Amino acid sequence: MHDKLSTTPLRHALRRSAAATLSALSVFSVFAVTAALASSAYAAAPTPMKPGVYEEVVRGNNGPLTVRVTLTADRIEAVAIGDNYETDYIALEPMKNVATEVVRRQRLDVDTVSGATESTTALLRAVFQAVTEAGGDLNDFLKAGAVDPATLPGKTVKADVVVVGGGGSGLTAALTAAKAGKKVLLIEKHETLGGSTALACCSLSKPSSLDTGDATPAGEALRKTEPQLLALLSELGVNFKNDNAGSLAVEGMVLVKKLEDAARAAGVEMLTSTALYKIERADGSDGAVTRVLAQDGATRYEVDAPAVVLATGGFAYDIERVISTMPRWTALTPFATAAKTSTGDGIRIAETAGAAVFEDAHVIAGGLGARYAELDRAVALSGGIPNGVLVNGRGVRFVNEAVPDLTEKAAMEDITWVIFDAADAKRAETFSKYLTFEVVVDATDWLTLARRMGVHAETLAQTMKTYNEGVA
Ligand SMILES: Cc1cc2nc3c(=O)[nH]c(=O)nc-3n(C[C@H](O)[C@H](O)[C@H](O)COP(=O)(O)OP(=O)(O)OC[C@H]3O[C@@H](n4cnc5c(N)ncnc54)[C@H](O)[C@@H]3O)c2cc1C
Repeated sequence: MHDKLSTTPLRHALRRSAAATLSALSVFSVFAVTAALASSAYAAAPTPMKPGVYEEVVRGNNGPLTVRVTLTADRIEAVAIGDNYETDYIALEPMKNVATEVVRRQRLDVDTVSGATESTTALLRAVFQAVTEAGGDLNDFLKAGAVDPATLPGKTVKADVVVVGGGGSGLTAALTAAKAGKKVLLIEKHETLGGSTALACCSLSKPSSLDTGDATPAGEALRKTEPQLLALLSELGVNFKNDNAGSLAVEGMVLVKKLEDAARAAGVEMLTSTALYKIERADGSDGAVTRVLAQDGATRYEVDAPAVVLATGGFAYDIERVISTMPRWTALTPFATAAKTSTGDGIRIAETAGAAVFEDAHVIAGGLGARYAELDRAVALSGGIPNGVLVNGRGVRFVNEAVPDLTEKAAMEDITWVIFDAADAKRAETFSKYLTFEVVVDATDWLTLARRMGVHAETLAQTMKTYNEGVA
């Protein structure tokens, strides 16, 4: 049901920025024929960059942040922090550490530092920008397998089931298999488990609540197994709320910890800092997957297992796949809030092994970023906004706000404003706190509101008149 927006004089409009979580659902079915294997990621030559010193200005936590990035044809040679307004004792040291790590490891999937997340993320964003400006390929600094594993000493391991990826999906699969009496090995490329799951604060949704009406194989599979999933999580004391978005009652990090503890207790063996780089299949006619190869920089693991579960997460940082599947989001890739581990490795490796990829790529959440988490929660774009009005930069309403996931639709507009009535006292109180942050404006009439939003005043007034007449 929609509320008429004319009952109180004060109206708030909230502008949603471009920050977004890119993720994707993909399921694989392996062809019965042996595919010609393409050369592995680590063997490919990096895309050459135009050498030089790139001065990038990005938005830091407290204002503009200048970062000078020195690049050679194939290396990030130096990252220096220039003019900035970041807090000396809180942010500068972590930023310097992140800069040092980027250069030392020649990687862009360096962890940001909690407590200085905005500043360290901004620094990384500057390096992303510099590499892109120099014509480089971000994937060269994000892909797993930078070391040639063929040069490492090998170790053979046997398991009934090998699970690749230690986020929510992988941990759930590993726990389920271990409870069924299987010998399970879980391989995780990062030093800690969790992936994007650990970053999702309080709003992980039940598969059934993500139903936007599209009958995709991935969605079907998730919905079919939902009762077992809910039962398994309930045993761990993890339940879902009965809200519009079917949200998990605990934060992603808590979910990961509970799953990890349960999986370890059930006997799941775990190798962290170990990246899958190849899937091997039998020569015979069924072409079944028989072995996966992984490496931790010191050892090459050859894992023999008749069952392999790929749970390597989304591909927010696989620029090529973002371009090919959702080009509208390409420019926003550096701003994705997914874990930096979301490089689409699993999908690429499975494709190389001959898997057919069912592409159901979508962006699953949009938001204003960690700095405005309170505002994000107050708006809850992913759950539908039945009592708000979404208008674009021209002041035109472009979507039915009651549909469950508005993220993709909002992304199609250059600017999205959400207009709420101040009669919604709880929201109004939250928004009032952010009036000086440029993301929220308020006014007592449509024309003033339109001026403050920077949209065409008469169009907005007409939009709201039509809306109010429609819901009267
Ligand atoms: C800020 C934020 C908000 C979100 N909000 C919501 C929401 O409201 N509702 C909702 O339903 N979902 C939400 N999500 C999305 C949800 O968190 C993810 O879709 C889900 O957690 C993905 O789980 P996963 O196990 O598939 O992937 P991940 O949790 O990303 O785990 C994948 C793991 O695989 C590992 N890996 C990758 N490649 C390799 C390799 N080559 N070798 C070994 N390991 C590898 C990664 O390191 C990672 O640990 C949100 C996510 C974020 C970041």
